[in-house]
Amino acid sequence: AALALSGCSGERGGGASTDDATGSAGFAADALIGVALPDKTSENWVLAGALFEDGLAEAGFDADVQYAPASNTVAEQQNQISAMVTNGAKVIVIGAKDGKQLGDQLQQAADAGVKIIAYDRLIENTENVDYYVAFDNFEVGRLQGQALLDGLEARSAHGAPWNIELFSGSPDDANSAVFFGGAMEVLQPKIDDGTLVVASGQTEIAQTATQGWEAENAQSRMDSILTSAYADQEVDGVLSPNDTLARAILTSVKQAGKDVSKFTVTGQDSEVESVKSIMAGEQYSTINKDTTLLVEQTIKMIQALQAGEDPEVNDTEQYDNGVKVVPAYLLPPVIVTKENAAEAYANVPNLLEIVEGAQ
Ligand code: BGC
Repeated sequence: AALALSGCSGERGGGASTDDATGSAGFAADALIGVALPDKTSENWVLAGALFEDGLAEAGFDADVQYAPASNTVAEQQNQISAMVTNGAKVIVIGAKDGKQLGDQLQQAADAGVKIIAYDRLIENTENVDYYVAFDNFEVGRLQGQALLDGLEARSAHGAPWNIELFSGSPDDANSAVFFGGAMEVLQPKIDDGTLVVASGQTEIAQTATQGWEAENAQSRMDSILTSAYADQEVDGVLSPNDTLARAILTSVKQAGKDVSKFTVTGQDSEVESVKSIMAGEQYSTINKDTTLLVEQTIKMIQALQAGEDPEVNDTEQYDNGVKVVPAYLLPPVIVTKENAAEAYANVPNLLEIVEGAQ
């Protein structure tokens, strides 16, 4: 190892020893970085905001983290992004509320030389999105579909055929169709061969959508399906795209007087209340998408851009936003049930505590 003999006092340099450490494409090490998040409907968004505040500050940046407010959400997120550009942000990380409605703001960003990283949700119909960082959404869907089948086998009081219902996320979120597509890759053949029956007949994504990812919308759709299609038969399982909706569906099923220990519902996000529900034998599965890792990966991308380097990506094929394929860094999601919860949350202290407390 080389001895540091010079009087160099730089703390942040990252070891670059040439005379062009920042490079022409880089920017100041304490630059403003904007983070625009969609809402607080899921715990992962709340956590992401806090982790970006801390992580960006620790990396030496000036962080501006904003959530779109509950009303006038799309327009307010557009305004927040515009203001970040005007305030001189060098990179803006965006968890889009509506991934199809940011074209003007991202053109403004591109004109000002601001780099855009789509975070968790793809931004569509614009060339001005530079990178995408997310968990592998299609794989999330496949894992959910497989978990639904596994849960039916393990919990149902009878063998196939099983009655199921399908739920998808908000239509303004690009992830919703990807999760649903992944799940249907597993479930459609089982519907076709009669193993699974969707008694409501609602199998098109538009029929299964949950506007705004809001619990009350899922609960009322489940209520009305139970009334219309299950007056004289049992529902054995539901494909739910996330934990918030899974708990709403469980509420509806319980209110209808059904035994949830024999019922299977999937989820996603490893929300505290859902991990408790899984340990109590109610919700069947969730997905662990460790927000800490996703935020860390995003900050690595920002640090590469700061240094004038190309951020690392591991997928340049899957995420076509309608105008271009957005280079992506995808992290692997992990399916979690009661059986593997302790192992899956080995590095997530607050969830591990819940799992261990329940055993
Ligand atoms: C995220 C999910 C989340 C959902 C609702 C999606 O875009 O990928 O993790 O459950 O939004 O907030």
